[in-house]
Amino acid sequence: MAYVSIEGLTKNFKGNPPTTAVDDLHLEIEEGEFLVLLGPSGCGKTTTLRCLAGLERPAEGRIVAGSSTVYDSARRVDVAPDKRSIGMVFQSYALWPHMTVRKNIRYPLAARHLRDKIKDGSVERIAEAVHCGGLLDRYPAQLSGGQQQRVALARGLVSEPDLVLFDEPLSNLDARLRQQVRAELHELHRTRPFTAVFVTHDQSEALSLGQRMAIMRTGTIEQIGNPREVFEHPVSDYVAEFIGMSERLELTRNGDGWSCDGQALEANGNHVPISAPAGVVRLRPDDLRLVEDLSLLRDNELGLEATVMDVSYGGRHLDVSVQLTGSDTRVNAQVSTKSSGGQLDRWATGERTVIAFELR
Ligand code: ADP
Ligand code: MG
Repeated sequence: MAYVSIEGLTKNFKGNPPTTAVDDLHLEIEEGEFLVLLGPSGCGKTTTLRCLAGLERPAEGRIVAGSSTVYDSARRVDVAPDKRSIGMVFQSYALWPHMTVRKNIRYPLAARHLRDKIKDGSVERIAEAVHCGGLLDRYPAQLSGGQQQRVALARGLVSEPDLVLFDEPLSNLDARLRQQVRAELHELHRTRPFTAVFVTHDQSEALSLGQRMAIMRTGTIEQIGNPREVFEHPVSDYVAEFIGMSERLELTRNGDGWSCDGQALEANGNHVPISAPAGVVRLRPDDLRLVEDLSLLRDNELGLEATVMDVSYGGRHLDVSVQLTGSDTRVNAQVSTKSSGGQLDRWATGERTVIAFELR
């Protein structure tokens, strides 16, 4: 049986227009699992977490966390937030400014009268685990953003709750720090597993942290699976777009082959047979290769002629925007600067080129 189970969760907001923020959502989480909820702004991620924490009252549904039912609309069960064994870590650190780090971390234990845990050194241990052991007597205003976020992590975890909820906790940190705290969180979960739902709109965060990831769309889950499964086999155009397959080619039947915007799709000088799995093709910019002409296609590659419209330098890669010949379809390719052998001027605005890609 799942450790946390969410059945038919629905939450509406009145207003003009009224919004169904969470729409008959089902989700099961195993004990010790780190589940990531990924989706664009406004798809209902925060509302889902707030329903789990008891900060919003759902219209419908049932939520079981650990051994207790914390919400059940049919049986009128609604356990108060402070009686649910659920920890929360927010994007804004929300530390108490008048309390030291020690008191901030201790707060969930004090609020729930867990005196034994305060005495047994839980506060010091979790502070050590998130690298804040030396900061216990400071006040939040004396800490950097990264340190404040570590304290907030410690406070969410200190009572060893049945479930820890994270709402975009890394998004206020600068890129390098975000990477560092992400790695620390990953290690922390590996060494002392806890059950977590981690919300983000950042796909690389989701891929690296999630044991499973769920892609949300307008209040429901569109796909759930391990990150590799979702990354390689998105079930819909929506999921594909969201996990970085930003480039879209629409193929149409052309006699016994395929074409794209009136241009026949080529494979080593042959047209691509209609049996190929085609229709709408979704690609990541680095799935596209640029070559001088169609004769340079590799065995399993398909090609389309295009013109370079814009090139920008990105350090490890060049971003090359191309327009397919005879149409206004534009695609963006990411060309590794290493593989172009230092010849970065190979792709210049106005040059003819061929985009090469594989169908999966
Ligand atoms: P996310 O966290 O994925 O960005 P939210 O859960 O915050 O999304 O919001 C989901 C939808 O519910 C949005 O359309 C948002 O405008 C709406 N919403 C969220 N909170 C409220 C509220 N308190 N009152 C009215 N509408 C809300
Ligand atoms: Mg949100």
